[in-house]
Amino acid sequence: MPARSSDGGSAPEAPLPDKAEDLGRWYDEVLERAELIDVRYGVKGFVVYRPNAMRIVKRVYSMFERELEARGHSPMLLPLVIPMANFRRETEHVKGFEDQVFYITEAGGKPLNEKLIVRPTSETAIYPMMALWIHSYKDLPLKLYQSVAVYRYETKATRPLLRGREFLWIETHDAFEDERGALAQIKEDLEVARRVYESLGLAFLVVEREPYDKFPGAESSYAYDALLPNGTVLQIATTHYLGEHFTRAFEVTFVDREGNRRRPHTTCFGIGISRTLAALIMTHGDRYGLVLPFGLSVHDVVIVPIVQGGSAEGVLSKARRLEEELGAAGFNVHLDDSEDTPGDKFYRWEMLGVPVRLEVGRREVEGGYVTLFRRDTRERERVADADLARRVGELAREILDNLRRRAWDRLAESVADARTREDVVRLAREGRIIRANFCGEEECARAIKEETGYEVRGRRIDVDERPTGNCAWCGRPAKRVVYMAKAY
Ligand SMILES: [Zn+2]
Repeated sequence: MPARSSDGGSAPEAPLPDKAEDLGRWYDEVLERAELIDVRYGVKGFVVYRPNAMRIVKRVYSMFERELEARGHSPMLLPLVIPMANFRRETEHVKGFEDQVFYITEAGGKPLNEKLIVRPTSETAIYPMMALWIHSYKDLPLKLYQSVAVYRYETKATRPLLRGREFLWIETHDAFEDERGALAQIKEDLEVARRVYESLGLAFLVVEREPYDKFPGAESSYAYDALLPNGTVLQIATTHYLGEHFTRAFEVTFVDREGNRRRPHTTCFGIGISRTLAALIMTHGDRYGLVLPFGLSVHDVVIVPIVQGGSAEGVLSKARRLEEELGAAGFNVHLDDSEDTPGDKFYRWEMLGVPVRLEVGRREVEGGYVTLFRRDTRERERVADADLARRVGELAREILDNLRRRAWDRLAESVADARTREDVVRLAREGRIIRANFCGEEECARAIKEETGYEVRGRRIDVDERPTGNCAWCGRPAKRVVYMAKAY
C-alpha cells in the first residue's frame, strides 16, 4: 500500500481491480466509480456521458478543433438524416455501410415517401452540397469539419466508448484541385492526430491499411492504432484519400486555371473522440482511478486542508492563499473545503485523475511548506511555499512526459518479430504486437485471423521498414513489413 499521510484517514472504498489481471472489469468499475459513463440507459449500444466524462470529451474536442482550424478548416453542421437516394450514389460506400445503418421509415404516424438514413458518416450528406458550392479552382481547397455523433448498428458486442451504436467524433471533408493537394492533406491530418495524441500521452502505431481493408470508397486509408494495456489495439483516428470516387458519383466539378472542367480530389478524416477517451482512461489509469495530464481532469490542482483540533484558522487561511496564488499563476485550482474527511477527498480526487494534490495541515503551516502529491507516481514531496507555483508548473510537463514515456515503453516492449508461421501463432498466444514480412494477400490475412484472432493492421508509415524475406505466414514473396495485432 502506498503511504497515506498520518491524518488522511483510510480509503472509503477498496481499490479497483488490477488492470493487468482483468482490464474489462477494471474498465467497467472505473467508468462507474469515477461517474464517467452510465450504462443503464436501456438501449443497447447507447450510453449516457456524465459530467466527469463530458468535461474531458469537450477538452479533447477543443484540442483537435484548434489544430484543425489553425490549418484552415472551418466548422459546419450537416443534418443528421441523409436521403436514401444520396446514400446509394457511391456503390462501394453503400456496400460498406448498408448493413450498419439505422433507417427512418415513418414520421407523424405515416410511412415516409423516401426512407431517410441516420448518418453513419457524412460523405453522402456533404457531396451533394459540394456540387452546389464548388465551381472554380478559386473555391478550392475547401476544408470543413463537424463535431457530431454518428450512428452505426454494431452487431458485435458493444462496449461503452469502445464500440457503441452512437459515438462521438470529428469528421473533416476536404476537396482539392488535384491528387497532390489531397495527399498533402493526408500528411497534415496525420500531423494533427500526432500532435494531439502526444499531448494526451498516448502511444500509437501510424499505419497504412491494407488495400482490401480501406474505408469503403477510398483509394487509401491511414490509421492511428493506440495500444491498450491488454495488448490489443484500438483504432482512434483514420484519414482517407478518396481520389475522385465521391466527386464522380455526386458530379462535383470545377473549372481549373486553364479553363478545363475537372473533378476535385477529396479526403476525409475521422477522429474517434469516444475511443480517444477510452484510450486515455485505459492507458494511464491505475487501481486508484483515472490518471490524467494537466488540462484534462476537472482540476489540475486540488488543495485539501487537514484540520484537526483547534488549528482550523491557520490551515484554512494558508489553503486560501495558495488557491489564490496558483489561480493567479494560471492553474485550474480548487480548494476542497467541504465537510468530507481528508481520506474521502483523497479518494475522490484520485479517482478523477487530478494530477496534483496539495495537503495543508498544522505541520505545513508551521514549517512554511506544502505536502505535494502527484497522481501519476503517487509520490509525496515537500515544497517550500515560495517554490510552489514553479514546482507545479514543472509538474505539468513532468507528468505528461512520464505518462507518455510509460505508454511508449509498453508499446516498444510489446512489439516482437515473427519469421515463421509458428512465430506468429506463439506471439499471438503471448498477446504481443507482431511485426512480420507479409505478402499483401487478403486470403493470407484471413487465414491469420481465423487461426490466431490477429488482424493485419498495415504497414507503418512513420518509419521506413522493408521486407527482408518471405511472408511469415504463407512463405510467398513479401511485399511489405506489417504489424499484426488483436483489434479491440
Ligand atoms: Zn502471406
